[in-house]
Amino acid sequence: MKFARFIYNDKEYFGVVIEDRIKLIEGDLFGSWEYTGETVARGEVDLLAPIVPKKIIGIGANFVGKKEELPSSLPEMPVFFFKPDSSVTGPDTEVIVPETLDEIKFESELAVVIGRETKNVSKEEVLDYIFGYTIGNDVTAPQFFHENGHWTLGKAFDTFTPIGPVIETELDPNKVYVKAEVNGEGKQNSPTNLMIVPLKEMIAYLSKVMTLQPGDVILTGSPLGAHFVKDGDVVECIIDEIGSLKNTFVKAPVPINS
Ligand code: MG
Repeated sequence: MKFARFIYNDKEYFGVVIEDRIKLIEGDLFGSWEYTGETVARGEVDLLAPIVPKKIIGIGANFVGKKEELPSSLPEMPVFFFKPDSSVTGPDTEVIVPETLDEIKFESELAVVIGRETKNVSKEEVLDYIFGYTIGNDVTAPQFFHENGHWTLGKAFDTFTPIGPVIETELDPNKVYVKAEVNGEGKQNSPTNLMIVPLKEMIAYLSKVMTLQPGDVILTGSPLGAHFVKDGDVVECIIDEIGSLKNTFVKAPVPINS
């Protein structure tokens, strides 16, 4: 089932996408909800990020180029970082790049949406706690990586976390390819079995530290091939089973300290 959040007639709704129609729903996405009986054409709505997460957590450098390069053991402590909810934007929006930043990277990623309170779960239990999957673009300004290794600022600018277009609840995360195109040219295309820390291990590990809540989003890492983009570039992050998340990168005179 594909869930979308969108604006229709100046109001915000959730709905279930069925081909080119959306059936409106009301209630709690993670609890009980029902159809309102109203259906709209997909072309009549403006899609928003399908969820407004309380927490967005990313994992660093999590893909190899081919299976033979996978390490024989998992890292003892994976590199995780937070992205603020203020960095979230939806499909078909602009990623606003402060004009003093020269180097901006896109990173197409499979994004997990947590469905239940998740604390101290084993990797075998993890899938029971996942609501569904969307696509994330973990936009990054390496100029704002601190020399001591902190990544937070470089990942945290407003609009630096496009997510969408929908949440797919019936996905097998082990069987998808994470892709990206820049101005229509293929740049990334990797199966998720090239992740160094697999999705189940990643979420089990996080749940030992913090309570994950419904709506939290975990960005599972970007395949090889992410690189710098420039003003006006259109980046499309694609997972065929979910859809396409398309955003235009636009330089803007945003005052920042640099
Ligand atoms: Mg990333």
